[in-house]
Amino acid sequence: MTVTVPPLGLVHDPGPIPLLPAPDREIAVLGRTPVGADRDAVVAHLAQASYEVRRRAVQTVHDAGLGHIGGEFSITDVLVTLYLHVMNISPEQVAEGDPERDRVVLSKGHAANALYTVLAVGGYIAPEALRTFMQPESMLNGHPARGKIRAVEANTGPLGHGLPIAVGTAVAAQIDGSPRRTFVLLGDGELQEGSNWEALMTAGHRGLSNLCAVVDRNRLQQGARVADTNDLEPLADKVRAFGWDVVEVDGHDHAALLDAFAGVPAASGRPTFVIARTDKGHPVSYMRDHVAWHHKVPSAEQVTQALAELDALAGGQEEK
Ligand SMILES: [Mg+2]
Repeated sequence: MTVTVPPLGLVHDPGPIPLLPAPDREIAVLGRTPVGADRDAVVAHLAQASYEVRRRAVQTVHDAGLGHIGGEFSITDVLVTLYLHVMNISPEQVAEGDPERDRVVLSKGHAANALYTVLAVGGYIAPEALRTFMQPESMLNGHPARGKIRAVEANTGPLGHGLPIAVGTAVAAQIDGSPRRTFVLLGDGELQEGSNWEALMTAGHRGLSNLCAVVDRNRLQQGARVADTNDLEPLADKVRAFGWDVVEVDGHDHAALLDAFAGVPAASGRPTFVIARTDKGHPVSYMRDHVAWHHKVPSAEQVTQALAELDALAGGQEEK
């Protein structure tokens, strides 16, 4: 079966594309947190969005037979918090190319499915487009491409490139005298790339208070623990020594993430480095903190179990 995908949010209409199977139900488009909502309502909105993203993303990976669901689940809460509340960004600003919008760079581009699904829950791309993930001629590639989706700010995938790009966009804003901010999401294994440390040094030197780097500190990389491969610790001390403010938070706690991002731009004049303590595969029991789920594809039975666990957790949240 082929269906023409609505072009919303895509740079051009890709035309008829073979579609993946439909999910059990299509993702709810929640959009930004309501204006004037109190903190509890904001957190509840973000929790609902993360739930929607995870239950849709796990089905996408199963249906496509490809993806990085473990690392996608570990950054879901960070992405949702940024796109649906923290950043000065909206689908309208993206469509109009508003130069003053905040920027986000997903340096760990292999987690593209999480980004696309957050863009769908936020109203940036049509939910139906998720059914084209990694299909021939799709705009939703295995790594994000800025020439294909308007909300994507940088092509990423080769690790160690996102932070240098983000430093460049932050320098541009500084030169322009603009208040726009740049957020960049890094994998922790990715920090073994030397280019990150050049970028950290430059950002500290230039006092890029409009820049916020978030490291998805799930302690796992492609095939092993980060600590067993090329250890990063003491990470906070190292980054502080490069002239950054460092904040450590539970990367699955939306309220804690809101507090961390509320400090950007930092009054200190320094860039902000958020160490988001996460678990690969969070919160699904058979995935969480297992390195195999870097690139593993869930079976139909595992999808069913994941959905049941996510539904149960969401029900528990609503009862609180
Ligand atoms: Mg990692």
